[in-house]
Amino acid sequence: MKATIAILPGDGIGPEVVGKATELLSVIAGKYGHDFVFVEGMIGGIAIDETGDPLPPETVRICEAADAILLGAVGGPKWSDPTATVQPERGLLGLRQHFRLFANLRPVKTYPALVEHAPLRAELLQDVDILFVRELVSGIYFGQRQEQGDGDSSYDTMSYRRDEVEQVANVAFRAAQGRRKKLCSVDKANVLASMRLWRRTVVEVQEEYDDVELEHLLVDAATMHLLTRPGSFDVIVAGNMFGDILSDEASVLAGSLGMLPSASLRADQFGLYEPVHGSAPDIAGQGIANPIGMFLSAAMLLRYSLRLENEAAAIESAIDAALAAGLRTADIAGVGQTPVSTDEFATAVMSKI
Ligand code: NAD
Repeated sequence: MKATIAILPGDGIGPEVVGKATELLSVIAGKYGHDFVFVEGMIGGIAIDETGDPLPPETVRICEAADAILLGAVGGPKWSDPTATVQPERGLLGLRQHFRLFANLRPVKTYPALVEHAPLRAELLQDVDILFVRELVSGIYFGQRQEQGDGDSSYDTMSYRRDEVEQVANVAFRAAQGRRKKLCSVDKANVLASMRLWRRTVVEVQEEYDDVELEHLLVDAATMHLLTRPGSFDVIVAGNMFGDILSDEASVLAGSLGMLPSASLRADQFGLYEPVHGSAPDIAGQGIANPIGMFLSAAMLLRYSLRLENEAAAIESAIDAALAAGLRTADIAGVGQTPVSTDEFATAVMSKI
């Protein structure tokens, strides 16, 4: 197949891991007979430096002409002055809003070889394989707010419409159908009216997916269940803020931020794919970043935007094989293990495709 992929390296370790992911996608294209065209654009701090805008119109144009977007990370100390008028993160929020990327998918998986890096006991981490589906363009982060009150009070509003809940619930149910057919919906229906609408709507949507088992959890209970029985979850769907907090909580189960991918999708096949980690300024330029989160994001791009399931699975198996062969970047190297560079790890993965 022919596909155009917008490549937005961004800042810090972004360009280091995106560069390797582009090489990996070229290896996949060669092996499976596809024609991938990569078109690079600027975003984040580098775009502010070059154009004054964290999301220049030219980058939006490149993304609009593409089948999917692969992004590294944005931000860093150079642009972190909170009083600055433009922040690198605006570039990312701008992309999500411009393309109405309403469903954020974040898989969290534990690797047997890496459980020693996680803060929970190894037996609790057996078979952890969770897919978070977070609503991304509504809820309290986008509700009415009083930005500058009189200094003594302020407010934010959590509001959801039925259609917003329906569309993200549909993504979650469909994902569960392709997995272990279990969905846990997280809300705060005992206190919040918007969350009662959330729960009612999820129950209604379930009528179309009677093969999927549905569980509801209040968000406070969910924070505990994620630590006491993480292996029992399949797909978890939540609103914007609860999904943000819970998926960050669960990310520690994987042992390193560098391991985690994400996808932000709209109703058609278009999506933005990026690792969960940031620009890691503390290790940028050293060639030691873990490329796994970025590689798994590229695999998600193949799976969700290009519908190339075998190719996606090939990347995932190649990563498993590299880990099984004992290769570890510094963030996941155990005592007595000599860490390999980003380059060495990436080369090993590519050689196993
Ligand atoms: P971070 O994710 O960049 O780093 C947190 C810690 O994890 C650091 O010690 C870092 O070295 C380590 N780490 C992260 N990714 C790694 C990888 N691939 N391999 C090995 N180690 C890795 O988070 P932070 O330090 O809070 O933020 C740094 C900058 O990134 C900030 O400017 C922040 O705003 C930005 N940020 C951007 C995104 C994004 O682009 N989506 C997300 C989070 C943070």
